[in-house]
Amino acid sequence: MHMVKKPHVVILGGGPAGLGAAYQVTKKNLASVTVIEQENDVGGIAGSFNICGINVDYGSHRLHPACDPEILRDLQMLLGNELMERPRHGRIRLRNRWIHFPLKPFDLASKLPFSFSISTAIDLARKNLGFTQKTFDTESFAGVLESGLGRTICREFYFPYVHKIWGLLPEEISPTQAHRRVSANSLKKMLQKILETDEGTRRLGEVALVPHSSPISQSGLLFYNILLDENASCHIALGRGLKFWLKNGEQMSDEEFSAAGGNNSIDHVDFMIGSSEMNVDGILENGNIEPIMRKGEWAFEV
Ligand SMILES: Cc1cc2nc3c(=O)[nH]c(=O)nc-3n(C[C@H](O)[C@H](O)[C@H](O)COP(=O)(O)OP(=O)(O)OC[C@H]3O[C@@H](n4cnc5c(N)ncnc54)[C@H](O)[C@@H]3O)c2cc1C
Repeated sequence: MHMVKKPHVVILGGGPAGLGAAYQVTKKNLASVTVIEQENDVGGIAGSFNICGINVDYGSHRLHPACDPEILRDLQMLLGNELMERPRHGRIRLRNRWIHFPLKPFDLASKLPFSFSISTAIDLARKNLGFTQKTFDTESFAGVLESGLGRTICREFYFPYVHKIWGLLPEEISPTQAHRRVSANSLKKMLQKILETDEGTRRLGEVALVPHSSPISQSGLLFYNILLDENASCHIALGRGLKFWLKNGEQMSDEEFSAAGGNNSIDHVDFMIGSSEMNVDGILENGNIEPIMRKGEWAFEV
């Protein structure tokens, strides 16, 4: 009888990819496997090390909800009760501020310096107007990320981040990695997330007219608190409106507030839009136009 000899496969590297491949090949009885790992321990950058008897992870050990069901089943079988469901509270330190990670537009707008928010908003506008495809090399890691996430977020955050993780400059990394990042975190998707929060985040909740010379604007200070900083400029918000903006609104139930045109969303995301060039007109019931602001200032005595 002729016996077919199983091949022998050698896998370089005992990180998740190498160990996963070895596990699958062995489980399916396709070959005998040898994993060669240069370090003393397996796990790669998803591994852990021990300090004074405590296991410390190199990075977080979190599975994305989109994890392939077959891989998830294998991990559940291998890890048993050690695989747990936990809420995610990712935070990163950016410009000396703690902000949510993955990035959230509200955090970017409210916790980071005004100049950062403005540059990010300009990037978003450029992208939506189709300017970015022409200016970035979409065959490189740096170009794909910059065209998807915008120059500000890349240069301030992603490029230093990937350099820290891979020890490589963005120009040296494969664009495949960038396509994955961009599809998960593009500015368009961040905006989509806001719009999908509930029905109210698809509608305006606030339109605030603030003169360009407002005390907050004149102070030239950043308070890192949206309730103060938003008053440096005219702003609009998607989502919840405040009841006291309506006459007798504070006495209204949520249903009455909605019926009166109020917005009951669970979220409220501000966008600062004012400038020293802004003109605002009101249109009266009879169609006449009444100037309200000229060059960022009230057009009448207040
Ligand atoms: C801070 C941080 C947090 C992270 N958090 C998460 C998370 O929550 N969830 C998630 O899914 N992913 C996370 N990741 C990403 C995840 O760790 C990686 O995607 C994963 O480790 C990649 O696995 P890999 O096997 O391809 O590579 P690696 O983990 O890099 O493993 C490669 C292995 O190959 C070995 N090796 C390399 N060259 C040789 C050689 N010539 N000979 C022998 N051995 C060699 C290395 O020593 C290493 O052990 C995180 C990463 C970091 C840095």
